[in-house]
Amino acid sequence: MGTAQHRTSPSSAVVASKKYQDVLARADFVLHGLSEGVTVQDADGRLVYANDAAARICNYPSARALLDASPREIMDRFDVFDELGQPVSAGRLPGRRALAGEQPDALLVRVRHRATGKTWWSMLRAHAILDDNGVPELAVNIWHDVTAQQRQRTASKFLAEATARLSASLDYEETLKSVAQALVPGLADWCGVDLVEAGISRSLAVAHVDPAKVQFARDFRLKYPPNPASKSGVANVLRTGVAELYRELSEPMLRAGARDEEHFRAIMELGITSLMVVPILVAGRAEGALTLAVAGSGHQYDEDDLALACELGRRAGTAIENARAYGSAQRAVQARDEFLAVAGHELRTPLAALMLQIESLKVAMGSGALAKDPDRFATRIDKTFGHALRLARLVDGLLDVSRIAEGPVELRLEEIDLAALVSDTCDRFTEDASHAGCELVVHRGAPCIGRWDPQRLEQIVSNLLSNAMKYGASQRIDVRCAFTETIATVSFEDRGIGIAPDDCARVFGRFERAVSERNYPGLGLGLWITRELVVAHGGSIEVKSEVGRGSTFTVCLPRR
Ligand code: ADP
Repeated sequence: MGTAQHRTSPSSAVVASKKYQDVLARADFVLHGLSEGVTVQDADGRLVYANDAAARICNYPSARALLDASPREIMDRFDVFDELGQPVSAGRLPGRRALAGEQPDALLVRVRHRATGKTWWSMLRAHAILDDNGVPELAVNIWHDVTAQQRQRTASKFLAEATARLSASLDYEETLKSVAQALVPGLADWCGVDLVEAGISRSLAVAHVDPAKVQFARDFRLKYPPNPASKSGVANVLRTGVAELYRELSEPMLRAGARDEEHFRAIMELGITSLMVVPILVAGRAEGALTLAVAGSGHQYDEDDLALACELGRRAGTAIENARAYGSAQRAVQARDEFLAVAGHELRTPLAALMLQIESLKVAMGSGALAKDPDRFATRIDKTFGHALRLARLVDGLLDVSRIAEGPVELRLEEIDLAALVSDTCDRFTEDASHAGCELVVHRGAPCIGRWDPQRLEQIVSNLLSNAMKYGASQRIDVRCAFTETIATVSFEDRGIGIAPDDCARVFGRFERAVSERNYPGLGLGLWITRELVVAHGGSIEVKSEVGRGSTFTVCLPRR
């Protein structure tokens, strides 16, 4: 401190006590430029020295102003909390403890300036200076600002905790609720999660430490749902996918956003002073919003808070995406397993019959019986061929499924007469119809010319006719063709078991069935293939049905 004697008084810090003026003035030469706040207090707790950084940290305009304030006055300006959020009394501060003869550990404190709500973190250390008798007469306090590190730590902690919760279960609604709970009160006084379903947003969770306030917020939300056209808040974030930050919500701002006086009073009761709304992005689309609000803790959100909230929103979105992907993979695996089981069963039946026929033909040939009765021989060959045909149809069906599922159906369009095609296809089913005990009546009508793929149309007619015979056995079936200038329709009316209203849309899905496998074997693919083929022609298919009375499937096809 060789140059200290050239300085007559401390330039930037102020020394209050005469007794220590000299030594503190010397010390100030070193201390005034420190970024750490340094204060020295006497045995009564009064400050006798403070550097500029201490004044800055304590929100005083100058070190002089800080020194002029009484210990009570200084304490009254702030709320001081420990790491766990518990208030810290003056007696717990390291300076006081050093003066009481203890050797206090460093204390991490969160300090909130009551007037502005500004919050910061300090690592507070204190050492006693002893008098000649070894009694503490001064305490040197060092305030090290750790706000940035603490925020980083808090951010990592919240991200880690939220990520752990989000990956703990595939029930993303439950995990989002628990994330909302976890963010309160550390990151927000209020936390809300909204999700969009079928274009409508719904509040999934509201969290606050006080359950009475949660109920108030729920009632508030019911009474004042977000206006979808609003240019700010949840509705806007859901529409635009862009996060919003409101550092300080003033009364005029809140009044401007209120619908009426009652709404304004309810908003004021929520007590929100700072707010962030961030999107929950799923595959790049805002499918939800996370709202974090300050009400009472005085904190003001800034860009760092917004970045953390956005990251939380992103992770929530990823969790939703993963849960959905897992769900659909599960369903696909389940559908595949069911399909394989049913397909195996379906293929096995005609295969067993085919093998049986061939076996008995072999025996009959060996015994020379067939040579004696060529007619019986021809019938048996026909039967064998019939089983092979059924097998071939099944295999074709399966191949069709994979072809159709792979991409758009390729059509070979030709100018054809739909009425003739329907009638010819029905003719080929005459034998099957008689086996099923069905009277097949075709109302052919006038020729109906259009551009379609004849093979695909045949497949459509065959599928619907087969179903009518299967689910309407022993009953009459009417097939009708009609057309206008632009559209042709074909309907298949049976008088069979019918389909329950809840199942009517579902049965067009892949592997979807509305009957038991035992009573009606099948793969649940016919209607799916049919609909894909109709749609490929730019048409549509619908069913009208009544349980126990029958069903009518109607196919509409544009003629060009
Ligand atoms: P599958 O007949 O092999 O089960 P489909 O895709 O052709 O597959 O039909 C799906 C389901 O729709 C059937 O399982 C059945 O429940 C129902 N269904 C189809 N056609 C009819 C019909 N004409 N009458 C009653 N139910 C039908």
